[in-house]
Amino acid sequence: MPFNSISNRNNYIDQVLNTPFDLVVIGGGITGAGIAWDATLRGLKVLLLEQNDFASGTSSKSTKLIHGGLRYLKQLKFKQVCEVGRERAIVHNIARFLVRPEKMLLPIYENGSLSRITAALALTVYDTLAGVGKVDSFSYHSKEKTKSLEPLLPLKQLLGSFLYAEYQTDDYRLTWTLIQSALNKDAICLNYAKVNQIKTDENSSIRAVCFEDTILGENFEIKTSLVVNAAGPWVVDVISLDAFPPQKELLLSKGTHIVLSNNKFPLKQALYFDDIEKKRMIFAIPKGNTTYIGTTDVEYTNDKNKIYSSNTEIDYLIKTVQSVFPQLSINASDILSSWVGVRPLIKEPGKESTEVSRKDEIFVSQSGLISIAGGKLTGFRKMAEKVVDLLVKFHFKDKPGLKRSSGTKNTLLDGNSFKSESELNYYLVNLKKQFSDLGFEPELASIFMKRYGDKMEKMIGLLKDKVNVHDKIEWLLEAEIMYGILNEMIYFPTDFIQRQTGMLWFDRPKCVLKKEFILTVFALQFKWDNIKLSQERLKLDQLLDSSLDFKD
Ligand SMILES: Cc1cc2nc3c(=O)[nH]c(=O)nc-3n(C[C@H](O)[C@H](O)[C@H](O)COP(=O)(O)OP(=O)(O)OC[C@H]3O[C@@H](n4cnc5c(N)ncnc54)[C@H](O)[C@@H]3O)c2cc1C
Repeated sequence: MPFNSISNRNNYIDQVLNTPFDLVVIGGGITGAGIAWDATLRGLKVLLLEQNDFASGTSSKSTKLIHGGLRYLKQLKFKQVCEVGRERAIVHNIARFLVRPEKMLLPIYENGSLSRITAALALTVYDTLAGVGKVDSFSYHSKEKTKSLEPLLPLKQLLGSFLYAEYQTDDYRLTWTLIQSALNKDAICLNYAKVNQIKTDENSSIRAVCFEDTILGENFEIKTSLVVNAAGPWVVDVISLDAFPPQKELLLSKGTHIVLSNNKFPLKQALYFDDIEKKRMIFAIPKGNTTYIGTTDVEYTNDKNKIYSSNTEIDYLIKTVQSVFPQLSINASDILSSWVGVRPLIKEPGKESTEVSRKDEIFVSQSGLISIAGGKLTGFRKMAEKVVDLLVKFHFKDKPGLKRSSGTKNTLLDGNSFKSESELNYYLVNLKKQFSDLGFEPELASIFMKRYGDKMEKMIGLLKDKVNVHDKIEWLLEAEIMYGILNEMIYFPTDFIQRQTGMLWFDRPKCVLKKEFILTVFALQFKWDNIKLSQERLKLDQLLDSSLDFKD
Protein backbone atom coordinates (compact mmCIF):
# COMPACT_ATOMS: atom_id res chain seq x y z
CA MET A 1 0.00 0.00 0.00
CA PRO A 2 1.43 3.45 -0.84
CA PHE A 3 1.79 5.61 2.27
CA ASN A 4 1.28 8.94 0.55
CA SER A 5 -1.73 10.31 2.36
CA ILE A 6 -3.35 10.48 5.75
CA SER A 7 -6.37 8.53 4.43
CA ASN A 8 -4.01 5.70 3.53
CA ARG A 9 -2.67 5.83 7.07
CA ASN A 10 -6.27 5.50 8.31
CA ASN A 11 -6.74 2.42 6.13
CA TYR A 12 -3.52 1.02 7.45
CA ILE A 13 -4.68 1.55 11.04
CA ASP A 14 -8.00 -0.18 10.17
CA GLN A 15 -5.98 -3.13 8.99
CA VAL A 16 -4.03 -3.10 12.28
CA LEU A 17 -7.25 -3.09 14.30
CA ASN A 18 -8.80 -5.92 12.31
CA THR A 19 -5.87 -8.31 12.22
CA PRO A 20 -5.22 -10.95 14.88
CA PHE A 21 -1.48 -10.81 15.64
CA ASP A 22 0.70 -13.56 17.08
CA LEU A 23 3.15 -11.01 18.38
CA VAL A 24 3.57 -7.27 19.00
CA VAL A 25 7.11 -5.86 18.86
CA ILE A 26 7.76 -2.53 20.59
CA GLY A 27 10.62 -0.58 19.01
CA GLY A 28 11.60 -0.09 15.38
CA GLY A 29 15.37 0.04 15.82
CA ILE A 30 17.63 -2.67 14.42
CA THR A 31 16.72 -5.08 17.26
CA GLY A 32 12.93 -4.82 16.82
CA ALA A 33 13.19 -4.79 13.03
CA GLY A 34 15.36 -7.92 13.09
CA ILE A 35 12.89 -9.71 15.37
CA ALA A 36 9.93 -8.75 13.16
CA TRP A 37 11.77 -10.04 10.08
CA ASP A 38 12.78 -13.36 11.64
CA ALA A 39 9.31 -13.95 13.11
CA THR A 40 7.51 -13.23 9.83
CA LEU A 41 9.87 -15.53 7.93
CA ARG A 42 8.88 -18.33 10.30
CA GLY A 43 5.19 -17.69 9.68
CA LEU A 44 4.14 -15.51 12.63
CA LYS A 45 1.82 -12.56 12.16
CA VAL A 46 3.67 -9.55 13.57
CA LEU A 47 2.80 -5.98 14.46
CA LEU A 48 5.75 -3.65 15.09
CA LEU A 49 5.17 -0.28 16.75
CA GLU A 50 7.78 2.50 16.71
CA GLN A 51 7.20 5.73 18.64
CA ASN A 52 9.07 8.01 16.20
CA ASP A 53 10.53 7.21 12.84
CA PHE A 54 12.13 3.78 12.32
CA ALA A 55 15.72 3.67 13.61
CA SER A 56 15.35 7.12 15.14
CA GLY A 57 16.93 5.87 18.39
CA THR A 58 20.43 4.43 18.68
CA SER A 59 20.17 2.55 15.40
CA SER A 60 20.94 5.68 13.38
CA LYS A 61 23.66 6.97 15.70
CA SER A 62 26.26 4.21 15.43
CA THR A 63 29.71 4.26 13.81
CA LYS A 64 27.97 2.49 10.92
CA LEU A 65 30.32 -0.48 10.97
CA ILE A 66 29.46 -4.12 10.77
CA HIS A 67 32.37 -5.04 13.02
CA GLY A 68 34.51 -8.06 13.37
CA GLY A 69 34.89 -7.06 17.03
CA LEU A 70 38.62 -6.27 17.26
CA ARG A 71 37.97 -4.39 20.50
CA TYR A 72 36.53 -7.56 22.09
CA LEU A 73 39.88 -9.18 21.52
CA LYS A 74 41.55 -6.57 23.71
CA GLN A 75 39.10 -7.70 26.43
CA LEU A 76 39.89 -11.39 25.68
CA LYS A 77 36.26 -12.10 24.67
CA PHE A 78 37.05 -14.78 22.10
CA LYS A 79 33.52 -16.15 21.84
CA GLN A 80 32.17 -12.72 20.94
CA VAL A 81 34.86 -12.20 18.27
CA CYS A 82 33.87 -15.55 16.72
CA GLU A 83 30.19 -14.71 16.78
CA VAL A 84 30.38 -11.17 15.39
CA GLY A 85 32.92 -12.30 12.80
CA ARG A 86 30.51 -14.93 11.51
CA GLU A 87 27.60 -12.50 11.65
CA ARG A 88 29.54 -9.91 9.67
CA ALA A 89 29.96 -12.33 6.77
CA ILE A 90 26.28 -13.33 6.87
CA VAL A 91 25.00 -9.75 7.00
CA HIS A 92 27.24 -8.78 4.08
CA ASN A 93 25.82 -11.66 2.09
CA ILE A 94 22.15 -10.91 2.76
CA ALA A 95 22.49 -7.14 2.33
CA ARG A 96 25.36 -6.90 -0.14
CA PHE A 97 24.39 -3.51 -1.60
CA LEU A 98 24.22 -1.95 1.86
CA VAL A 99 26.99 -3.64 3.82
CA ARG A 100 30.18 -2.93 1.91
CA PRO A 101 33.76 -4.07 2.58
CA GLU A 102 35.92 -1.30 4.00
CA LYS A 103 39.61 -1.86 4.64
CA MET A 104 40.68 -0.28 7.91
CA LEU A 105 44.22 1.07 8.41
CA LEU A 106 45.77 0.65 11.85
CA PRO A 107 48.94 2.78 12.05
CA ILE A 108 51.69 1.57 14.39
CA TYR A 109 53.76 4.20 16.22
CA GLU A 110 56.93 4.11 18.29
CA ASN A 111 55.01 5.09 21.42
CA GLY A 112 51.56 3.81 20.43
CA SER A 113 49.28 1.65 22.59
CA LEU A 114 49.79 -1.30 20.21
CA SER A 115 53.21 -2.63 19.21
CA ARG A 116 53.68 -4.31 15.83
CA ILE A 117 53.92 -7.73 17.52
CA THR A 118 50.81 -7.26 19.68
CA ALA A 119 48.80 -5.96 16.73
CA ALA A 120 49.96 -8.80 14.45
CA LEU A 121 49.05 -11.36 17.10
CA ALA A 122 45.67 -9.74 17.72
CA LEU A 123 44.86 -9.55 14.01
CA THR A 124 45.93 -13.16 13.42
CA VAL A 125 43.59 -14.32 16.18
CA TYR A 126 40.91 -11.91 14.95
CA ASP A 127 41.07 -13.10 11.33
CA THR A 128 41.03 -16.74 12.46
CA LEU A 129 38.16 -16.37 14.93
CA ALA A 130 36.15 -14.10 12.66
CA GLY A 131 36.57 -16.56 9.78
CA VAL A 132 38.12 -13.95 7.48
CA GLY A 133 38.93 -15.46 4.07
CA LYS A 134 42.37 -15.25 2.37
CA VAL A 135 41.48 -12.26 0.19
CA ASP A 136 40.40 -10.23 3.19
CA SER A 137 43.04 -11.30 5.70
CA PHE A 138 45.18 -8.56 7.22
CA SER A 139 48.47 -7.33 5.79
CA TYR A 140 51.40 -5.37 7.24
CA HIS A 141 52.81 -2.37 5.40
CA SER A 142 56.07 -0.48 5.69
CA LYS A 143 56.19 3.17 6.64
CA GLU A 144 56.55 4.17 2.97
CA LYS A 145 53.65 2.00 1.80
CA THR A 146 51.57 3.34 4.69
CA LYS A 147 52.27 6.85 3.46
CA SER A 148 51.06 5.90 -0.01
CA LEU A 149 47.91 4.33 1.45
CA GLU A 150 47.19 7.47 3.46
CA PRO A 151 49.32 10.43 2.34
CA LEU A 152 47.98 12.59 5.15
CA LEU A 153 49.70 10.53 7.87
CA PRO A 154 52.89 12.25 9.12
CA LEU A 155 55.99 10.02 9.12
CA LYS A 156 57.21 11.09 12.57
CA GLN A 157 57.27 8.06 14.90
CA LEU A 158 55.33 6.01 12.32
CA LEU A 159 56.67 2.44 12.06
CA GLY A 160 54.21 1.00 9.58
CA SER A 161 50.59 -0.11 9.53
CA PHE A 162 48.17 -2.99 9.31
CA LEU A 163 45.32 -3.11 6.84
CA TYR A 164 42.42 -5.32 7.93
CA ALA A 165 38.85 -6.06 6.89
CA GLU A 166 35.73 -4.32 8.20
CA TYR A 167 32.35 -3.56 6.65
CA GLN A 168 30.64 -0.19 6.45
CA THR A 169 26.90 0.31 6.32
CA ASP A 170 24.15 2.85 6.73
CA ASP A 171 22.47 1.89 10.00
CA TYR A 172 19.22 3.74 9.20
CA ARG A 173 18.94 2.07 5.80
CA LEU A 174 19.79 -1.35 7.19
CA THR A 175 17.00 -1.01 9.75
CA TRP A 176 14.54 0.16 7.10
CA THR A 177 15.55 -2.72 4.82
CA LEU A 178 14.67 -5.15 7.61
CA ILE A 179 11.33 -3.40 8.14
CA GLN A 180 10.63 -3.55 4.40
CA SER A 181 11.59 -7.24 4.31
CA ALA A 182 9.17 -7.92 7.18
CA LEU A 183 6.44 -5.89 5.40
CA ASN A 184 6.98 -8.03 2.30
CA LYS A 185 6.14 -11.05 4.46
CA ASP A 186 2.89 -9.49 5.70
CA ALA A 187 4.09 -7.94 8.93
CA ILE A 188 2.50 -4.61 9.79
CA CYS A 189 5.01 -1.99 10.92
CA LEU A 190 3.93 1.44 12.06
CA ASN A 191 6.16 4.40 12.72
CA TYR A 192 4.87 7.28 14.89
CA ALA A 193 3.01 4.78 17.09
CA LYS A 194 4.02 5.16 20.74
CA VAL A 195 3.08 2.35 23.11
CA ASN A 196 1.78 3.97 26.29
CA GLN A 197 0.15 1.09 28.14
CA ILE A 198 0.45 -2.66 28.54
CA LYS A 199 -2.73 -4.19 29.96
CA THR A 200 -2.81 -7.39 31.96
CA ASP A 201 -5.69 -9.69 32.95
CA GLU A 202 -6.69 -11.07 36.37
CA ASN A 203 -3.88 -13.63 36.11
CA SER A 204 -1.39 -10.80 35.53
CA SER A 205 -0.80 -11.97 31.96
CA ILE A 206 -0.62 -9.50 29.10
CA ARG A 207 -3.92 -9.04 27.26
CA ALA A 208 -3.44 -5.82 25.24
CA VAL A 209 -1.14 -2.96 24.32
CA CYS A 210 -2.33 0.61 23.81
CA PHE A 211 -0.58 3.04 21.52
CA GLU A 212 -0.94 6.61 20.40
CA ASP A 213 -0.74 7.29 16.69
CA THR A 214 1.07 10.62 16.85
CA ILE A 215 0.29 11.43 13.21
CA LEU A 216 -3.47 10.96 13.53
CA GLY A 217 -3.48 12.06 17.19
CA GLU A 218 -5.58 9.04 18.22
CA ASN A 219 -5.21 6.19 20.70
CA PHE A 220 -5.75 2.54 19.86
CA GLU A 221 -5.82 -0.76 21.71
CA ILE A 222 -4.55 -4.05 20.27
CA LYS A 223 -5.43 -7.38 21.82
CA THR A 224 -2.38 -9.56 22.23
CA SER A 225 -0.91 -11.93 24.76
CA LEU A 226 2.63 -11.77 23.46
CA VAL A 227 4.81 -8.66 23.46
CA VAL A 228 8.52 -8.26 22.77
CA ASN A 229 10.10 -5.12 24.15
CA ALA A 230 12.98 -4.03 21.88
CA ALA A 231 12.94 -0.40 22.97
CA GLY A 232 16.73 0.03 23.23
CA PRO A 233 17.55 2.82 25.70
CA TRP A 234 13.84 2.92 26.64
CA VAL A 235 13.64 -0.80 27.50
CA VAL A 236 13.22 -0.14 31.23
CA ASP A 237 10.56 2.55 30.57
CA VAL A 238 8.56 -0.01 28.59
CA ILE A 239 8.98 -2.60 31.35
CA SER A 240 7.59 0.03 33.72
CA LEU A 241 4.37 0.17 31.64
CA ASP A 242 3.86 -3.44 32.62
CA ALA A 243 2.32 -4.36 35.98
CA PHE A 244 5.69 -5.32 37.44
CA PRO A 245 8.62 -3.11 38.36
CA PRO A 246 11.77 -3.36 36.24
CA GLN A 247 14.16 -6.01 37.46
CA LYS A 248 17.01 -4.82 35.27
CA GLU A 249 19.00 -1.65 35.08
CA LEU A 250 20.53 -0.24 31.95
CA LEU A 251 23.72 1.72 31.75
CA LEU A 252 23.47 4.27 28.97
CA SER A 253 26.73 5.19 27.33
CA LYS A 254 26.78 8.26 25.12
CA GLY A 255 28.77 8.32 21.90
CA THR A 256 29.35 11.31 19.60
CA HIS A 257 30.53 11.49 16.00
CA ILE A 258 31.57 14.62 14.14
CA VAL A 259 31.61 15.20 10.38
CA LEU A 260 34.30 17.26 8.63
CA SER A 261 34.52 18.24 4.98
CA ASN A 262 37.19 16.73 2.73
CA ASN A 263 38.68 20.20 2.38
CA LYS A 264 39.40 20.35 6.10
CA PHE A 265 40.30 16.70 6.58
CA PRO A 266 41.23 15.18 3.20
CA LEU A 267 41.44 11.59 4.40
CA LYS A 268 41.46 8.86 1.72
CA GLN A 269 41.57 5.74 3.82
CA ALA A 270 39.47 4.63 6.82
CA LEU A 271 41.63 4.71 9.97
CA TYR A 272 41.52 3.20 13.45
CA PHE A 273 43.87 4.99 15.83
CA ASP A 274 44.66 5.79 19.48
CA ASP A 275 42.77 8.62 21.11
CA ILE A 276 44.72 11.51 22.59
CA GLU A 277 44.88 9.80 25.99
CA LYS A 278 45.90 6.45 24.44
CA LYS A 279 43.07 4.80 26.36
CA ARG A 280 40.58 4.09 23.58
CA MET A 281 40.58 3.77 19.81
CA ILE A 282 38.84 6.14 17.42
CA PHE A 283 37.61 5.69 13.85
CA ALA A 284 37.94 8.23 11.03
CA ILE A 285 35.95 7.08 8.00
CA PRO A 286 35.69 8.88 4.65
CA LYS A 287 32.16 9.06 3.23
CA GLY A 288 31.31 11.03 0.09
CA ASN A 289 32.77 14.52 0.39
CA THR A 290 33.16 14.19 4.14
CA THR A 291 34.93 12.20 6.83
CA TYR A 292 33.25 11.21 10.08
CA ILE A 293 35.13 10.71 13.31
CA GLY A 294 34.05 8.90 16.46
CA THR A 295 33.28 7.95 18.98
CA THR A 296 33.20 8.94 22.61
CA ASP A 297 32.03 6.68 25.45
CA VAL A 298 30.57 8.59 28.40
CA GLU A 299 28.03 7.39 30.95
CA TYR A 300 24.71 9.20 30.38
CA THR A 301 21.96 9.79 32.93
CA ASN A 302 19.97 12.73 31.49
CA ASP A 303 16.88 12.88 29.25
CA LYS A 304 16.98 10.12 26.61
CA ASN A 305 14.74 12.13 24.32
CA LYS A 306 17.07 15.15 24.19
CA ILE A 307 20.64 13.98 23.92
CA TYR A 308 23.36 16.50 23.17
CA SER A 309 27.06 16.16 22.55
CA SER A 310 29.09 18.11 25.05
CA ASN A 311 31.79 20.62 24.18
CA THR A 312 34.17 18.35 26.10
CA GLU A 313 33.41 15.46 23.72
CA ILE A 314 33.87 17.71 20.68
CA ASP A 315 37.14 19.01 22.06
CA TYR A 316 38.32 15.44 22.73
CA LEU A 317 37.55 14.30 19.16
CA ILE A 318 39.21 17.33 17.57
CA LYS A 319 42.30 17.03 19.79
CA THR A 320 42.50 13.32 18.99
CA VAL A 321 42.49 14.04 15.24
CA GLN A 322 45.11 16.73 15.70
CA SER A 323 47.32 14.46 17.78
CA VAL A 324 47.62 12.18 14.74
CA PHE A 325 47.53 14.94 12.11
CA PRO A 326 49.28 17.93 13.76
CA GLN A 327 49.58 19.66 10.38
CA LEU A 328 45.78 20.14 10.23
CA SER A 329 44.12 23.15 11.72
CA ILE A 330 40.64 22.12 12.86
CA ASN A 331 38.30 23.75 15.32
CA ALA A 332 34.68 23.33 16.34
CA SER A 333 33.44 25.83 13.75
CA ASP A 334 34.74 23.49 11.00
CA ILE A 335 32.31 20.76 11.98
CA LEU A 336 29.71 20.29 9.25
CA SER A 337 27.40 18.09 11.24
CA SER A 338 27.37 15.58 14.09
CA TRP A 339 25.29 12.89 15.71
CA VAL A 340 25.03 11.49 19.19
CA GLY A 341 23.43 8.32 20.52
CA VAL A 342 23.35 6.16 23.61
CA ARG A 343 24.33 2.52 23.84
CA PRO A 344 21.75 0.57 25.84
CA LEU A 345 24.11 -1.60 27.92
CA ILE A 346 23.20 -4.01 30.71
CA LYS A 347 24.50 -2.58 33.99
CA GLU A 348 27.26 -4.55 35.68
CA PRO A 349 27.95 -3.51 39.28
CA GLY A 350 31.24 -1.66 39.75
CA LYS A 351 31.99 -1.34 36.01
CA GLU A 352 32.28 1.88 33.98
CA SER A 353 30.64 2.25 30.58
CA THR A 354 33.93 1.60 28.75
CA GLU A 355 34.32 -1.72 30.59
CA VAL A 356 30.74 -2.97 30.43
CA SER A 357 30.12 -5.84 28.03
CA ARG A 358 28.26 -5.11 24.79
CA LYS A 359 26.58 -8.51 24.93
CA ASP A 360 22.82 -8.79 24.65
CA GLU A 361 20.49 -10.21 27.26
CA ILE A 362 16.88 -11.39 27.23
CA PHE A 363 14.74 -11.05 30.35
CA VAL A 364 11.14 -12.14 30.85
CA SER A 365 8.81 -10.27 33.25
CA GLN A 366 6.20 -11.97 35.39
CA SER A 367 3.49 -10.88 32.93
CA GLY A 368 5.31 -12.64 30.11
CA LEU A 369 6.73 -9.44 28.59
CA ILE A 370 9.96 -10.40 26.82
CA SER A 371 12.61 -7.68 26.82
CA ILE A 372 15.93 -7.63 25.00
CA ALA A 373 18.73 -5.11 25.44
CA GLY A 374 22.45 -4.68 24.92
CA GLY A 375 24.14 -6.06 21.82
CA LYS A 376 25.35 -4.41 18.65
CA LEU A 377 24.08 -3.47 15.25
CA THR A 378 26.30 -6.26 13.89
CA GLY A 379 24.61 -8.91 16.01
CA PHE A 380 20.99 -8.03 15.17
CA ARG A 381 20.31 -11.25 13.25
CA LYS A 382 21.57 -13.54 16.00
CA MET A 383 19.70 -11.54 18.66
CA ALA A 384 16.48 -11.88 16.67
CA GLU A 385 17.05 -15.59 16.21
CA LYS A 386 17.46 -16.08 19.98
CA VAL A 387 14.26 -14.18 20.77
CA VAL A 388 12.16 -15.93 18.14
CA ASP A 389 13.57 -19.35 19.10
CA LEU A 390 12.35 -18.62 22.62
CA LEU A 391 8.91 -17.59 21.37
CA VAL A 392 8.57 -20.70 19.24
CA LYS A 393 9.67 -22.96 22.09
CA PHE A 394 7.33 -21.55 24.72
CA HIS A 395 4.38 -20.17 22.76
CA PHE A 396 4.06 -21.68 19.29
CA LYS A 397 5.26 -25.26 19.65
CA ASP A 398 2.06 -26.60 18.14
CA LYS A 399 1.26 -23.87 15.64
CA PRO A 400 0.71 -25.60 12.29
CA GLY A 401 3.03 -24.64 9.45
CA LEU A 402 5.42 -22.68 11.67
CA LYS A 403 9.11 -22.94 10.88
CA ARG A 404 11.01 -23.94 13.98
CA SER A 405 14.38 -22.62 12.92
CA SER A 406 15.33 -19.20 11.66
CA GLY A 407 15.54 -18.61 7.93
CA THR A 408 17.38 -15.29 8.16
CA LYS A 409 20.87 -16.66 7.54
CA ASN A 410 20.18 -17.45 3.91
CA THR A 411 17.38 -15.07 2.99
CA LEU A 412 18.42 -12.05 0.97
CA LEU A 413 17.00 -8.79 2.28
CA ASP A 414 14.69 -6.56 0.27
CA GLY A 415 16.60 -4.70 -2.46
CA ASN A 416 19.35 -7.31 -2.54
CA SER A 417 18.76 -9.69 -5.40
CA PHE A 418 22.54 -9.84 -5.88
CA LYS A 419 24.03 -13.23 -5.13
CA SER A 420 27.60 -12.17 -5.85
CA GLU A 421 29.82 -9.12 -6.26
CA SER A 422 29.82 -9.61 -10.02
CA GLU A 423 26.00 -9.49 -10.16
CA LEU A 424 26.09 -6.31 -8.12
CA ASN A 425 28.78 -4.78 -10.33
CA TYR A 426 26.85 -5.66 -13.47
CA TYR A 427 23.76 -3.91 -12.06
CA LEU A 428 25.85 -0.87 -11.15
CA VAL A 429 27.35 -0.56 -14.63
CA ASN A 430 23.83 -0.53 -16.06
CA LEU A 431 22.64 1.98 -13.52
CA LYS A 432 25.55 4.30 -14.30
CA LYS A 433 24.57 4.19 -17.94
CA GLN A 434 20.97 5.10 -17.09
CA PHE A 435 22.13 8.01 -14.92
CA SER A 436 24.40 9.20 -17.68
CA ASP A 437 21.58 8.94 -20.27
CA LEU A 438 19.45 11.16 -18.04
CA GLY A 439 22.27 13.72 -17.89
CA PHE A 440 23.52 12.97 -14.35
CA GLU A 441 27.06 12.16 -13.22
CA PRO A 442 27.35 8.35 -13.57
CA GLU A 443 29.14 8.22 -10.18
CA LEU A 444 25.88 9.25 -8.48
CA ALA A 445 24.61 5.77 -9.33
CA SER A 446 26.94 4.21 -6.72
CA ILE A 447 25.54 6.41 -3.95
CA PHE A 448 21.99 5.58 -4.94
CA MET A 449 22.64 1.89 -5.27
CA LYS A 450 24.03 1.75 -1.73
CA ARG A 451 20.75 3.28 -0.57
CA TYR A 452 18.16 1.43 -2.61
CA GLY A 453 19.85 -1.64 -4.12
CA ASP A 454 17.79 -3.18 -6.91
CA LYS A 455 14.87 -0.81 -6.15
CA MET A 456 16.57 1.79 -8.33
CA GLU A 457 14.35 0.92 -11.28
CA LYS A 458 11.43 2.56 -9.43
CA MET A 459 13.50 5.68 -8.79
CA ILE A 460 14.56 5.88 -12.44
CA GLY A 461 10.85 5.65 -13.35
CA LEU A 462 10.08 8.60 -11.06
CA LEU A 463 12.97 10.58 -12.56
CA LYS A 464 11.67 9.97 -16.06
CA ASP A 465 8.19 11.11 -14.95
CA LYS A 466 9.34 14.51 -13.70
CA VAL A 467 12.08 15.80 -15.94
CA ASN A 468 13.60 19.08 -14.68
CA VAL A 469 16.64 19.84 -16.76
CA HIS A 470 16.95 23.35 -15.27
CA ASP A 471 17.75 22.22 -11.77
CA LYS A 472 19.15 18.72 -11.62
CA ILE A 473 19.52 18.75 -7.84
CA GLU A 474 15.80 19.47 -7.44
CA TRP A 475 14.88 16.93 -10.09
CA LEU A 476 16.72 14.22 -8.18
CA LEU A 477 15.46 15.44 -4.81
CA GLU A 478 11.84 15.41 -5.92
CA ALA A 479 12.09 11.88 -7.31
CA GLU A 480 13.76 10.69 -4.13
CA ILE A 481 11.20 12.34 -1.86
CA MET A 482 8.36 10.83 -3.88
CA TYR A 483 10.03 7.44 -3.72
CA GLY A 484 10.26 7.71 0.08
CA ILE A 485 6.68 8.88 0.51
CA LEU A 486 5.26 6.19 -1.77
CA ASN A 487 7.43 3.28 -0.67
CA GLU A 488 9.17 3.89 2.64
CA MET A 489 6.59 5.38 5.04
CA ILE A 490 8.36 8.74 4.93
CA TYR A 491 5.96 11.32 6.40
CA PHE A 492 8.13 14.34 7.18
CA PRO A 493 11.09 16.26 5.70
CA THR A 494 12.98 15.38 8.90
CA ASP A 495 12.56 11.64 8.06
CA PHE A 496 13.77 12.31 4.54
CA ILE A 497 17.00 14.08 5.48
CA GLN A 498 17.82 11.56 8.21
CA ARG A 499 16.52 8.04 7.53
CA GLN A 500 16.04 8.03 3.81
CA THR A 501 19.14 9.90 2.66
CA GLY A 502 21.43 10.73 5.62
CA MET A 503 21.76 14.23 4.08
CA LEU A 504 21.60 15.79 7.53
CA TRP A 505 25.01 14.34 8.29
CA PHE A 506 26.76 13.89 4.98
CA ASP A 507 25.33 16.75 2.92
CA ARG A 508 24.03 19.28 5.41
CA PRO A 509 24.74 22.29 3.12
CA LYS A 510 22.32 20.81 0.55
CA CYS A 511 19.64 20.44 3.25
CA VAL A 512 20.01 24.13 4.08
CA LEU A 513 20.11 25.23 0.44
CA LYS A 514 17.11 23.15 -0.63
CA LYS A 515 15.09 23.35 2.58
CA GLU A 516 12.17 25.26 1.05
CA PHE A 517 12.06 23.02 -2.00
CA ILE A 518 11.94 19.89 0.16
CA LEU A 519 9.17 21.38 2.31
CA THR A 520 7.16 22.33 -0.78
CA VAL A 521 7.26 18.81 -2.23
CA PHE A 522 6.00 17.39 1.08
CA ALA A 523 3.36 20.11 1.47
CA LEU A 524 1.95 19.37 -1.99
CA GLN A 525 1.92 15.64 -1.50
CA PHE A 526 0.32 15.67 1.97
CA LYS A 527 -1.84 18.76 1.24
CA TRP A 528 -0.46 20.73 4.19
CA ASP A 529 -1.96 24.12 4.97
CA ASN A 530 0.29 27.06 5.91
CA ILE A 531 0.11 26.30 9.62
CA LYS A 532 1.27 22.72 9.12
CA LEU A 533 3.96 23.90 6.71
CA SER A 534 5.30 26.36 9.32
CA GLN A 535 5.33 23.61 11.95
CA GLU A 536 7.34 21.31 9.70
CA ARG A 537 9.71 24.15 8.77
CA LEU A 538 10.35 24.74 12.47
CA LYS A 539 10.97 21.01 13.07
CA LEU A 540 13.40 20.92 10.16
CA ASP A 541 15.25 24.02 11.41
CA GLN A 542 15.47 22.57 14.90
CA LEU A 543 16.87 19.33 13.55
CA LEU A 544 19.45 21.14 11.43
CA ASP A 545 20.46 23.24 14.45
CA SER A 546 20.65 20.23 16.75
CA SER A 547 23.33 18.63 14.60
CA LEU A 548 25.61 21.53 15.55
CA ASP A 549 24.37 22.18 19.06
CA PHE A 550 26.89 21.19 21.72
CA LYS A 551 26.12 21.70 25.40
CA ASP A 552 28.01 21.12 28.63
C1 LIG B 1 27.98 5.92 19.39
C2 LIG B 1 27.62 4.50 19.06
C3 LIG B 1 28.34 3.82 18.08
C4 LIG B 1 28.00 2.50 17.76
N1 LIG B 1 28.65 1.89 16.73
C5 LIG B 1 28.31 0.64 16.38
C6 LIG B 1 28.91 0.04 15.24
O1 LIG B 1 29.67 0.66 14.50
N2 LIG B 1 28.60 -1.24 14.96
C7 LIG B 1 27.72 -1.95 15.74
O2 LIG B 1 27.53 -3.13 15.45
N3 LIG B 1 27.07 -1.38 16.78
C8 LIG B 1 27.34 -0.10 17.12
N4 LIG B 1 26.69 0.51 18.15
C9 LIG B 1 25.64 -0.22 18.87
C10 LIG B 1 24.32 -0.21 18.11
O3 LIG B 1 24.10 1.02 17.48
C11 LIG B 1 23.16 -0.50 19.08
O4 LIG B 1 23.45 -1.67 19.78
C12 LIG B 1 21.84 -0.70 18.36
O5 LIG B 1 21.59 0.33 17.43
C13 LIG B 1 20.69 -0.77 19.37
O6 LIG B 1 19.50 -0.96 18.64
P1 LIG B 1 18.11 -1.13 19.34
O7 LIG B 1 17.12 -1.44 18.29
O8 LIG B 1 18.24 -2.08 20.47
O9 LIG B 1 17.81 0.30 19.99
P2 LIG B 1 17.23 1.59 19.24
O10 LIG B 1 17.83 1.77 17.92
O11 LIG B 1 17.34 2.73 20.18
O12 LIG B 1 15.72 1.21 19.01
C14 LIG B 1 14.76 1.23 20.03
C15 LIG B 1 13.52 1.89 19.46
O13 LIG B 1 12.44 1.74 20.36
C16 LIG B 1 11.60 2.86 20.21
N5 LIG B 1 10.72 2.98 21.39
C17 LIG B 1 11.09 3.26 22.65
N6 LIG B 1 10.00 3.31 23.45
C18 LIG B 1 8.93 3.05 22.67
C19 LIG B 1 7.53 2.99 22.90
N7 LIG B 1 7.02 3.22 24.11
N8 LIG B 1 6.71 2.70 21.87
C20 LIG B 1 7.20 2.47 20.62
N9 LIG B 1 8.53 2.55 20.35
C21 LIG B 1 9.38 2.82 21.35
C22 LIG B 1 12.60 4.01 20.09
O14 LIG B 1 12.03 5.15 19.51
C23 LIG B 1 13.70 3.39 19.26
O15 LIG B 1 13.58 3.69 17.88
C24 LIG B 1 26.97 1.85 18.46
C25 LIG B 1 26.24 2.54 19.44
C26 LIG B 1 26.55 3.87 19.71
C27 LIG B 1 25.73 4.63 20.70
